[in-house]
Amino acid sequence: MYAVLAGGVGAARFLRGLTAAVDPSDVVAIVNVGDDLTLHGLRICPDLDSITYWLSGVVHPTQQWGRADETHTVATELRRYGHDGWFTLGDRDLATHLHRTERLREGGVLSQVTDEIRRAFGVGVRLVPATDDHLETRIHTVDGRDLHFQEYWVRERAAPDVARITFDGAAAAKPAPGVVEAILAAETVLVAPSNPAVSIDPILAVPGVREALHRTPAPVVGVSPIIGGRVVRGMAHRLLPALGVEVSAAGVAAHYGDLLDGWVLDTTDADQSAVVEAGGTRCVTTPTLMDDIEVAAALARTCLSLAAEVRT
Ligand code: GDP
Ligand code: CA
Repeated sequence: MYAVLAGGVGAARFLRGLTAAVDPSDVVAIVNVGDDLTLHGLRICPDLDSITYWLSGVVHPTQQWGRADETHTVATELRRYGHDGWFTLGDRDLATHLHRTERLREGGVLSQVTDEIRRAFGVGVRLVPATDDHLETRIHTVDGRDLHFQEYWVRERAAPDVARITFDGAAAAKPAPGVVEAILAAETVLVAPSNPAVSIDPILAVPGVREALHRTPAPVVGVSPIIGGRVVRGMAHRLLPALGVEVSAAGVAAHYGDLLDGWVLDTTDADQSAVVEAGGTRCVTTPTLMDDIEVAAALARTCLSLAAEVRT
């Protein structure tokens, strides 16, 4: 079994490759919930939904999140009441949020409801939220504001400079059922090429997760989300400096530190392998831009061979 620490789109693209290389039912994705928010009374879990939509083949192909063939009738009608619609809610997507919210109100916990949703979409990978408890990523801006991650990322388009990132609730959160178990029982643990600051760090902030990663006999192999000093897509480069992390493959490896046994860098970053290896992490370079599924599958196989090499 393979356990994968996962954010949203970067992780989804990686998981699509991994499931082309291994049996999807052997994969457990441990997914960030720090981005989750409540809007119009609906519970929205962007990273879980991105992965579900990608792996079931219904994701919007160019946008890379949300649903293909989406319409926005509800969002348009909401404007009538003065809602400015800064967070895009498609009609198809809303059905997921309605169902999730109803099931949570009935007393379901997020991990159960998530499992029901991925099954309804025919997703073979098990998706487990990092925690069922409250955990919310907050962005503290240099101009003194304390914003929900989505307010910063989507509404303000990551424009304000960031002073600090905190994970509300993390200290009291427990790993969701299956999280620690998957890490301890895995043959290999993979860290997807996700945003380190707001996708992977919030998972690591759940007490017990870091310990499990240190305790597991499985090798831990990560993929750099940075290619040639750039974040590929998105705005992750706005957050890393706030953590004192250099926007480079080596910078992210150093941030994860001794959690990693292996690190996969893009071929263009081959010059950074030496410094990462000097820190005790085995490296391999390969194309990591997962625009097509063959590259993503080859990347996944490379991760697994690096894991096998590290294990011996
Ligand atoms: P989000 O929650 O939807 O922002 O998604 P993630 O946190 O999972 O991943 C976002 C990050 O994935 C981006 O900042 C990129 O650095 C990285 N990423 C996306 N696509 C690729 C890719 O094809 N290759 C690599 N190496 N990284 C990618
Ligand atoms: Ca996310």
